[in-house]
Amino acid sequence: MRNSGGAAVARQLDLEKLNAEFETKKPQEIIAWAMREFKGKFAMTSSFGPESGTLLHMASCLDPAIPVLFLETGYHFPETLEYKSRLIELFGLKNVMDLRADTKRRDETIAAHDGRPYEKNPDLCCQVNKVEPLDAAIKKYAAWMSGIRRAQTDTRKSVRIVEYYEGGMYKVSPLANFTSRDTWWYLKEHKIPQHPLYEKGYLSVGCWPCTRPIQAGDDERSGRWAGKSKKECGIHTFKEIAPQPDKESPENISDNI
Ligand code: SF4
Repeated sequence: MRNSGGAAVARQLDLEKLNAEFETKKPQEIIAWAMREFKGKFAMTSSFGPESGTLLHMASCLDPAIPVLFLETGYHFPETLEYKSRLIELFGLKNVMDLRADTKRRDETIAAHDGRPYEKNPDLCCQVNKVEPLDAAIKKYAAWMSGIRRAQTDTRKSVRIVEYYEGGMYKVSPLANFTSRDTWWYLKEHKIPQHPLYEKGYLSVGCWPCTRPIQAGDDERSGRWAGKSKKECGIHTFKEIAPQPDKESPENISDNI
């Protein structure tokens, strides 16, 4: 089977069966499966935020050369960039790539919004600095992995562990069932340093213009785009979930679990 937008996928996946089985599997087992299933065509994204150490550690223990895509918007906190360098060294990550907006498009967007596109049009700012660079980069992969969790926010509560998107792309979310407590304990158990801003009340860290610390009891992502209706940057929503192309033959059904 060859999908229309992404890289070639060797086999049709039985997503119902896979997702049912993965609900009770450890994230590490799901990651190992994905690395086998999409061998050589599998990447992950990371924001190098307070929770990122969990998935990065799990993945790097299996393959430190996994491509890690980082959206370098130009608006990151210095603490995030320092933390990124620290985790790269600690985990021995060999293949971290900074994705940037098209320079002309970025400059035009900044100029058209008085130098503050994040205030005047945050959806466009995210589109230019996050969605478009990611969309361009993931075309060469068959699947990508992210650390989103169902408990993070209403917009993520229905995420399935393996999904198929329009254009021929699989997305794997091994931490879908993790709580923030699970993440915290994983980091502690493995002695992984925490993001420097975490102790200052930043449970979720994105770009500095759009991130605020939160109070105890607040929704864990309420510090992102605080005061705006915006809840997502768009990288988890820019593609629609789609049915897979018709199965070509029974042997195309994957049982590589
Ligand atoms: S999170 Fe804010 S600064 Fe970052 S790309 Fe989106 S709108 Fe722009």
